[in-house]
Amino acid sequence: MSNKIIIAIDGFSSCGKSTLAKALATKLEYVFIDTGAMYRAIALYFKRNNIDLANLPAVNQALAQIELHFQYNPVTFKSDMYLNGENVELIIREMSISNIVSEVAANSAVRNFAVAQQQAMGVHKGIVMDGRDIGTVVFPNAALKIFVTADPAIRAERRFLELKAVNPEITMEEVAENLQHRDLIDSTREHSPLRQAEDAVVLDNSNISREEQFNLALKWAFEKINP
Ligand code: C5P
Repeated sequence: MSNKIIIAIDGFSSCGKSTLAKALATKLEYVFIDTGAMYRAIALYFKRNNIDLANLPAVNQALAQIELHFQYNPVTFKSDMYLNGENVELIIREMSISNIVSEVAANSAVRNFAVAQQQAMGVHKGIVMDGRDIGTVVFPNAALKIFVTADPAIRAERRFLELKAVNPEITMEEVAENLQHRDLIDSTREHSPLRQAEDAVVLDNSNISREEQFNLALKWAFEKINP
């Protein structure tokens, strides 16, 4: 598989983008990058250090202290997010971070910081990256752009079941509200709002199985890899 490409997967919160991106990367032997994890790790750092998003010098100073990297976890067979050497993979998925991450990710200094690192990760291609602005800002020339979408009620239910497994206290209302809140901020923010790239293919997975979705995306990938 010599003709390596960049695959950009964007879409609303909890559409199954990461699951699809991970499966594609495994099949193609590509690197998978979950850019949401990067914004979540930055949000965690900002929360822990009480960084005021309105204070640009403080934001820049904080960003200069942040080192992010992914490291393969042989137990879960996936890459975990590390913040300054600490494995933060679990904590960044908590509601306390989900509730603040979109405000942090809307900050232009934060975006510049994350986007530069994401672009560096793609220099050798052979990458599947999922997020909100991958096909529009991070890799506008990506060979394959997939815009994933699903019915909001279905997304909320999927996310609720996922989160309930680790936090029995969580309610459906809380999860649905958080998704709505993040979708609104992500798609209306001034800097790189979530939108479908003009040359993206739309994948609505409301009523198709994970396997059907994967097969469709893999077909699109092979069409680009071996045109
Ligand atoms: O993908 P995930 O839901 O974990 O992303 C968490 C948040 O990070 C999103 O709601 C969004 O605010 C932000 N994000 C972003 N740009 C990306 C990826 C995520 O703004 N490329």
